[in-house]
Amino acid sequence: MTRRDDLAANLADVRARIDAACEAANRSPAEVDLLAVTKTFPASDVALLSELGLSAFAENRDQEASAKVVDFGALRPGVAPTWHMVGNVQRNKARSVVSWADRVDTLDSVRLADALAKAAAQRGRPLDVLIQVSIDGDPARGGCPLPDVRDLADHVAGSGELFLRGVMAVAPIQMNPSTAFSVLADEVSRLRRDHPAATVVSAGMSGDLEDAIAHGSTCVRVGTALLGGRRLASP
Ligand SMILES: *Cc1c(COP(=O)(O)O)cnc(C)c1O
Repeated sequence: MTRRDDLAANLADVRARIDAACEAANRSPAEVDLLAVTKTFPASDVALLSELGLSAFAENRDQEASAKVVDFGALRPGVAPTWHMVGNVQRNKARSVVSWADRVDTLDSVRLADALAKAAAQRGRPLDVLIQVSIDGDPARGGCPLPDVRDLADHVAGSGELFLRGVMAVAPIQMNPSTAFSVLADEVSRLRRDHPAATVVSAGMSGDLEDAIAHGSTCVRVGTALLGGRRLASP
């Protein structure tokens, strides 16, 4: 088996899981995007996944991502996937992050929104963002606590440089994923009353994508099930 064969087989498995989860939830698979989380894997893997039909990739560290995006460009000139930041963004890295990211999926504070807006203005192109929601309110793992989501959304909507596309969440480890994603779904329906264009619900990873799709996820973020185990634990 070549690496390409491995990735093709993994991709077929993941697609089958998404299809089955959509069928169980009475939803169309066309409603659920697959975002490949390529952190810790080389640009050559991203190039293979791109050949296999994927066009959205996610990274969680600015330095690693900046280099990988350049390497990918050299391997697949003329191919332009979308790149997503799914890791914690330090405000002093905002400018670097917006130099490669098409969407920042981890916006969790007004201060970070302001830093990203300034960086987007400098690059001369507005930035798509998702608000990362902290379902259990634990400040250690990032994300905006539920009671603060509405104010942050209003703040983003008032910025000419940021487009609020929706929300992102990770199910807390100590919580049943189904419970976590139903809490998220409630928050999404509240948010959409004021921000109808915020339609993206990025929820579900290798271990819990079925539960997320059952609760309305429109974007699953899959690393391990596509690429295999990561050698180093990613922060
Ligand atoms: C690493 C990561 C993923 C992918 O997790 P897997 O369990 O490997 O599928 C998804 N979302 C975020 C925010 C991540 O950091």
